[in-house]
Amino acid sequence: MDELFWKAAYIVLFIIWLVIRGYYRREAVRQETKEKIGRGPDSLFLALNVIGMTFLPVIAVLSPYLDGFAIPVPDPVRFAFLLLFALNLWLFVAAHRDLGKNWSMALEIKEGHHLVRNGIYTKIRHPMYAHFWIFVIAQGFILANALVLVFGVLAWGLLYFCRVPKEEEMLIAEFGDEYREYMKETGRVIPKF
Ligand code: SAH
Repeated sequence: MDELFWKAAYIVLFIIWLVIRGYYRREAVRQETKEKIGRGPDSLFLALNVIGMTFLPVIAVLSPYLDGFAIPVPDPVRFAFLLLFALNLWLFVAAHRDLGKNWSMALEIKEGHHLVRNGIYTKIRHPMYAHFWIFVIAQGFILANALVLVFGVLAWGLLYFCRVPKEEEMLIAEFGDEYREYMKETGRVIPKF
């Protein structure tokens, strides 16, 4: 399959991703913040993820600068990851839809924040972060680029492992035993049945 096909397919899905985020973000940012945990390396790691999930893949698609990092990935594998990336958009929609106004980019407790335990959150505590794991792995294989793959996974891994303990600590401080109870019923990024 022509390289152009993979690049075009990736960009189309990425634009759909941006539209989904833009749509749900509008409602969520209008909700006032009650408490924000913005300290520490979280904001630096967020910036690294903008590079890993936007800058590098877009440069790989639009310019020849990252061609030196090309890796041989068989077409059926690339296609499988393209399909996975497309299905993963559904996970993104589900997480945003169920989290609604409680969503934020940084770690925050909003005015009127309530603990979401329904929908996609019934069996899994961090579906949006599960979505991002799939995102960074799939983009590297679709674009068959080692830099996009390795940088994306490392930047996301840094943010994920540094953030999740702090996020859960914050939610325990806010919701106490209700969150502890919820933790017993759910997995972090792998559903618990
Ligand atoms: N970690 C979640 C949410 C990511 S958005 C996921 O991966 O799906 C980050 C914000 O979501 C945090 O600031 C936190 O306040 C909020 N949050 C996380 N889990 C929540 C839950 N179960 N109910 C309500 N808000 C939650």
